[in-house]
Amino acid sequence: MARYKDEQCRICRREGCKLFLKGERCYSDKCALNRRNYGPGSNGQKKGKLSEYGTQLREKQKTRSYYGVGEKQFRKYFEMADNSKGKTGEVLLQLLESRLDNVVYRLGFASSRTQARMLVTHAAFDVNGKKVNIPSYLVKAGDVISVREIKKENGAIKQAIEANESRPVPTWLEKDAEKMTGKVVRLAEREDIDLQVEEHFIVELYSK
Ligand code: SF4
Repeated sequence: MARYKDEQCRICRREGCKLFLKGERCYSDKCALNRRNYGPGSNGQKKGKLSEYGTQLREKQKTRSYYGVGEKQFRKYFEMADNSKGKTGEVLLQLLESRLDNVVYRLGFASSRTQARMLVTHAAFDVNGKKVNIPSYLVKAGDVISVREIKKENGAIKQAIEANESRPVPTWLEKDAEKMTGKVVRLAEREDIDLQVEEHFIVELYSK
């Protein structure tokens, strides 16, 4: 039997949910979770009960993988959320959703967050008319994200817009596919975020 090699899909299988790490494939029947909805490796089908710490760690890792954020930066977001007036777990998710690479992905200008990050780094987008090439840039309500004039013929962006035509844009964003622009109507609330995570476990983990 051929060895299962797909690292990104292995992450989803380990976490037991779709993390949308591979672009269009994630929305198709080819998603590995449709065929192998159990953990990777020889022990993948054994389901043991996780310890409290194990559960907290898994929820954190799942969230990190979903947004493609490193440990150091993730902790920084936690600290920002912890110092805010809102509920720490919800603010943490809101901060992650507000990253420019995530917004580009949510608007369908990229097929995955990884691709969005690469496009942002390659200066494909303006925010409010000014070039921003920092994937971790945090958008605000009212911000307008647009594909830069010189990138409008970029094959990856055009392909993503076409492929994601039917993918719904969350209600906190507005998209004009023809003009290749998007607006942040408001910041994302918890109910807007479709990641299956119990964020209180992350708060508990970092609050030890
Ligand atoms: Fe693979 Fe499916 Fe996860 Fe996409 S959502 S990375 S196709 S397992």
